[in-house]
Amino acid sequence: MQDNNIKEKLEKEKQQLKKSLGDVATKDPKAKHDYDAKFKNFGDPIFDNTAEAAEVSLYDSNLSVEGNLELKLKDVNEALDRIKEGTFGKCENCNKEIDKARLEANPTAKLCIDCAKINKK
Ligand SMILES: [Zn+2]
Repeated sequence: MQDNNIKEKLEKEKQQLKKSLGDVATKDPKAKHDYDAKFKNFGDPIFDNTAEAAEVSLYDSNLSVEGNLELKLKDVNEALDRIKEGTFGKCENCNKEIDKARLEANPTAKLCIDCAKINKK
C-alpha cells in the first residue's frame, strides 16, 4: 500500500475542500473563519423578517452545498486519521484489506467492496 501517495491525495483534497468551503462561507462574513457559525445564525431575528426571504433562500442553498463539503471534509479527515493510526485500508465492517484499486479511486472508502454492496441494499 503506497500510503504516501494516498495521504498526499487526501491532503490535497482537504485543502481544496477547505478552499471551497471558504468560497461558500464568504457570503456570510460572520462565518468566514467558522463554518459552524452559519448554522447558529439561523436563530437571528433578521431571518424572521419576510423581506429577507430571498436572502434566506440563498442562504439555504449555501447551507446544503456547505453541508456536502463538510461531509466530504469529514470523510477526508477520518481517512487521514486512519493513516495516522495505521488502520487505513482496512474495512470498518469485516476488517479485511480494502482493494487497492478501490482505495486509489476513493481514498475515503471505509468499507471493502463486498461490505459496501451489502450496505447499499
Ligand atoms: Zn468488508
